[in-house]
Amino acid sequence: MPKTIIIFFGPPGSGKGTQAQMLAQKTEWKKISTGDLFRAEIAAGTEAGKLADKYIKAGKLVPDKIVFGLVEKSLKQKTAGFIFDGFPRNKKQLNELLAFFKKILKKNDQVYALEVAVSDEEIKQRLSQRRMCACGKVYHLVYNPPINKDICDICGGRLFIRNDDKPKVITHRLKIYHSQSKFMTDYWQKQGRLIKIDGEQPIKKIHEEIMEKLSELKLI
Ligand code: ADP
Ligand code: ADP
Ligand code: ZN
Repeated sequence: MPKTIIIFFGPPGSGKGTQAQMLAQKTEWKKISTGDLFRAEIAAGTEAGKLADKYIKAGKLVPDKIVFGLVEKSLKQKTAGFIFDGFPRNKKQLNELLAFFKKILKKNDQVYALEVAVSDEEIKQRLSQRRMCACGKVYHLVYNPPINKDICDICGGRLFIRNDDKPKVITHRLKIYHSQSKFMTDYWQKQGRLIKIDGEQPIKKIHEEIMEKLSELKLI
C-alpha cells in the first residue's frame, strides 16, 4: 500500500500540533513532532535534551544535526503514513528530508505540505494562553480549555506554561519563522503539493477542512 506523508507547516502557535493530533486520531498515520521529541529528551535529561533546551529557551532553532538524528529514529516505525509537525523548518532540513525520502519512498507514495496561515497578532494572543501537559496534550485557556482548571483531561497531570511561550521569546520565534517560510511554501507550491488552510477559524472547522482537502486528493 502507498504511504502518505503530510507535513504541517506554519508559525509557532498556528495550531499545527492541535491539528496534527486530530488527524493522527482519525488515521493510522504516526505523528512526528520535533517539539515533542525535544521535550521528551529534555525531561529524560539526555545529552541531546540538555543541548536542545538551551536553544529552545532562547527561541532559537535547535542545530540541524540533532534534529535529524531524532527524526530518523522515529521514521523507522512501521506505518501507512507519517504526519510531521514542526519539521522540516528550514532549507537544510528540507533537503535532508528529501534526500532521505529518495531512499525510502516508492513511486506511488504521496507527500503534501499543509500550511496553516495565522497572523502574528493572533499568534501572540494564542501563545500567551497556551497551556500544556507532560503527556503532550495542548490546551488554550479560552478556545480549548481543560474541564478542570490547570488539570489535564486525559491524564490528570498538572498543566504548565512552556518556557518559550514568553512574549520576548515569541517575537524572536516569529522572526525566525518568517525568515524561512517563503522558501518552504515556494518549494511545495512549485511541486504542486501545497495545501493552504486558513488557521484563523475554530479548531473543529479547520479539522473538517483538512479532512475534506485530503479526501479530494484521495489520500483518505
Ligand atoms: P503549534 O503546534 O502550531 O505551535 P498549537 O497546536 O500548540 O500550535 O496551538 C497553539 C495554541 O492555540 C494552543 O493553546 C491551542 O489550544 C490554541 N489553538 C489551536 N488551534 C486554534 C484555533 N483554531 N483557534 C484558537 N486557538 C487555537
Ligand atoms: P512551535 O511550533 O510552537 O514553535 P514546537 O513544539 O514545534 O513549537 O517547537 C518548540 C521549539 O523546539 C522550537 O521553538 C525550536 O526551538 C525547537 N524545534 C522544534 N522543531 C524544530 C526543528 N525542526 N528544527 C529546529 N528546532 C526545532
Ligand atoms: Zn496529560
